[in-house]
Formats: sequence, structure tokens, C-alpha cells
Amino acid sequence: MRTIFHVDGDAFFAACEQAVHPDWVGRAVITGAERGIVSAASYEAKAKGVSRGTALWDVHRIIPDAIIVPSDYETYSTFSNRMFNIVRRFTPEVEEYSIDEAFVDVTGCDRMYNCSYNELALRIQSVVVRELGISVSIGIGPSKVLAKVGSKWKKPSGVTEITVDTRESYLSKLDVEKIWGIGNAHAARFRMAGIRTAWQFASMPESTMKQSLYKPLKEIWHELNGTSVNPVITSIKQAYKSISKVKTFTPPSSNALYLKARIMRNLENACIKARRYGLLAGSVGLYLRKQDFRSAYGEHKLAIASVYPSELFSVLENMFDTLFDQRALYRATGVVLLGLHSTGQAQKSLFSHYNASKKLAGLYKSMDQINRRYGKHTVATGTSLRLTHQPYHTSSRGNIPIRAQKRLIGETSRQRINIPLLHVVV
Ligand SMILES: [Mg+2]
Repeated sequence: MRTIFHVDGDAFFAACEQAVHPDWVGRAVITGAERGIVSAASYEAKAKGVSRGTALWDVHRIIPDAIIVPSDYETYSTFSNRMFNIVRRFTPEVEEYSIDEAFVDVTGCDRMYNCSYNELALRIQSVVVRELGISVSIGIGPSKVLAKVGSKWKKPSGVTEITVDTRESYLSKLDVEKIWGIGNAHAARFRMAGIRTAWQFASMPESTMKQSLYKPLKEIWHELNGTSVNPVITSIKQAYKSISKVKTFTPPSSNALYLKARIMRNLENACIKARRYGLLAGSVGLYLRKQDFRSAYGEHKLAIASVYPSELFSVLENMFDTLFDQRALYRATGVVLLGLHSTGQAQKSLFSHYNASKKLAGLYKSMDQINRRYGKHTVATGTSLRLTHQPYHTSSRGNIPIRAQKRLIGETSRQRINIPLLHVVV
């Protein structure tokens, strides 16, 4: 049995700002001034009802004396590195999962430090507070999924240990879509099956699970039941075996153009993540889910590894044409990048392709920079723009437009500020 910590910074960006500006401690501090919406809110601001995504004009109204600053990623990364390095003093088995989150395999550390895992977590917390002036919450569990449930359970400065024996009392109080890796994409599917809590999912019989085609869900099921199937991976470059981006939409659609636009958006999201970790995909997978919850899935091995939507989309389009049934209504699409390996390895073996890729690499590097600064999809590929401009939803009876979807769920008009569109031909 493994023991895994999930270490998670509390209101991380806002906490870094307070650590740098001690006179801001105890006050409502908001980051995200450059985006027009809250990126992070200090606990003082959260207490008044401000949270991530709140529009800044609302913040002004709710907390007139709030301190609102633009994000300062350089400072946050410095804090992030220092935080991970503190954890590494205890064990090298640290996976940097995001700027303020790490998974740590502490199996055996209880004997090494002659203390309980709970005490070890408290020690890590106190060193982080003492040296960095920020706080972290730590979840302890036999798997990554349970550790992640734990770190969210009690915040800020919480330590929550979930064992195989105690998991029911936590999971029965948790909505199934709150589980890491499940999200809203599968929530409707679970609801149909009468599964509302994480515990209801975890206590499904294994035989039922085996029939599910969707591998990530099976892995989550095992992790919820205390079997670690996703190990803590120390090297960032191997951190992902696959990257998948699946999203449900309403109303369901049978319009191929609209569905392809959704696929392009899934692909863009998956590629952004892969590029962030310096990874190339060796294969791509396409996932389509119908309204009746049946799904179709196809995979294709690429002749040349890539991480650029403009190269990968045609492959997905071909698969789509094979999988797509025009009599059916679809409610979710997804893209999976598989066979991931680091960019360095690929450049050597694919020398002839290197020049063309170098140009694309430059193009996407600029896109990534713009998008990091101004919000995701400020610059996007032409195909996915169908999502934002045209009424492509159709009813089940034919091509009667139901409504125009102006934005994707979760996006705000502020994220689409006016900067020139970079049109990539696909
Ligand atoms: Mg956090």
C-alpha cells in the first residue's frame, strides 16, 4: 500500500502577494486585474463571497477597499519552486502537478522520520509557513485521487488523512463530479445511472466497471477504493501518459461542422497542456458520445509525432468521418493525446521534418504566450471559431437552428479582448 500526499497552496497567488507585501496580510487581495476577472482571492476576500471568476466590477461593489493587482507569474513561480524544494527536503519523490500543487509519494517516510504521516504533513506545513509566509493544505491517502480529495477537505492549513477504512465517510459527502478526473463531462452520465455521490461510484461492483469502455473512469474507481494506479512521477517530462480533454455541451447536436469545431477546441486544449510540459504525441484518440450515452472511440498512430492542432486536426477529421453517424445526436466530444514523449527525443529522430516543425513551434510558442497573458483561446485556430460566431446547433428533426451559442461555457466576453486574430489554416 502506498501513501501519497497532495500538497496544495491555499489561495496561492493571493497568498504570494500577501507574503511579498506584509501590509496586505489580513486584507482582501485579488489577482487577475489584467483579465477583468478574479484569478485568485485571499481568504479575507473569499469570506465576503468573492471567488475565482468573479468580475472585477462586482469585487469593487462587494469590497470597495479590496487590493486588486495584475498577476505576477514570475513571483508565483519563484514561490512555487521554493515550495516544491521544501517538500523535496523530506523526499525526492515529488511530482509537480501544477504551479501550486504537488503529489508526493511518502511511502516509508513514517519509519524514516519516526513519526506518523499526519505529523510529517504538519512538519511540511510549518516549514512552508516559516520560510515562505504562505500556507498549504495536505491530503493524505493510499492513491492520488484520495489524497486530492483530502487536500480540498479542510482549507486553509488543513491536514486530512483518508484511508481505505475511513473513505466512505468522506466519499459519501462528496458529489461524484467533484472527484479529480471526473468533472462535469461525466456528471450527466452518472446522474442517468442514479449515481450522485463519489461513494456510490466507488461502491459499484468491479464487474460493472469492467464493462465501461472508458479507461480513465476505471482508473479513478480503483484509486477511490485505495489502489494506486497512477504513480507519483518525479520527472515532469514523463508526468503524463496521456492527456485527454472531453467536454459535454447542450443542446446535443448532429451538425458535423459544429462537432468538428468542438473537437478542434478539445484538441487545442490538449495540445496547450502537452506543450506546457514539452511533450509530443505519438497517437491521437477521438471520443464521441451520443445522447443515449453510447460512445464511439477511435485511435490513430501518427507517422510523425506532433503537438500542433494544425497538424493533428486532419487525422481527427478522418476518424470523425468514420465514427460519425448523422442520424445520431451527440452531447460530448473528446480528444486524447497518447504515446507522449519529450520534444527533445523527437527532434533527433525526425530530422527531415524538423524545419517545418520549427516554424510551427515558433507560431504556437507566440500563441501560447498571448493566451497565457490574455486568457485561453484569445488566439485560436480558425476551425474552433465556429463555436463562437455561428448558430450551428440543430434540432433532431433537421437543420433548424435552435440557438446561437456565443461563447463556450466558462468563458466570459472579457477573455476575448480585441487583439488581432491569428488565422491558422487547417
Ligand atoms: Mg491551490
